[in-house]
Amino acid sequence: MPSPSADISESRWPAALDRSLQLDVSVWCAAWGVAGLPSGVRVELSSRMRRTLGKAYAQRSLVRLNDRLLARDAHELLREVLCHELAHLAAHTLHGPRIRPHGPEWRALLMIAGHPPRATIPACSVPQEVLRQPTPRRRRARRTRRVSFLRAIVRAFSPLGR
Ligand SMILES: [Zn+2]
Repeated sequence: MPSPSADISESRWPAALDRSLQLDVSVWCAAWGVAGLPSGVRVELSSRMRRTLGKAYAQRSLVRLNDRLLARDAHELLREVLCHELAHLAAHTLHGPRIRPHGPEWRALLMIAGHPPRATIPACSVPQEVLRQPTPRRRRARRTRRVSFLRAIVRAFSPLGR
């Protein structure tokens, strides 16, 4: 019986992440027509992201996720963010580096995967544990009320720039 986690090698998939997500990745990528994509993708967890939930680095086949998404109540959000970022890599593979990060190509992939194609998520819909609250000494009240952004920096690594 084939292992459901065969697509991304163990070293490229953080142990803290639920294995069922790895299976979701395979299903999404197959539906997107890039079934081979996961074998080259690395997923990392970051403790340094504050107002960003995830980032995709297309040229490096790398997805970084905010480690706060491991919070118990955040599993569905984690799934959406992983899908969001992987769709950037898939869109880059399918359409090249010149498309807009959250343009129609990317949106179509999110819809195929069954997720709303939203580029940002209102802070009010993000579980409390995910939002990094400022310590009293370093408070930046105005910033923490804003939405958490999902960012793609696909173009930053494009040889063509922009
Ligand atoms: Zn994005």
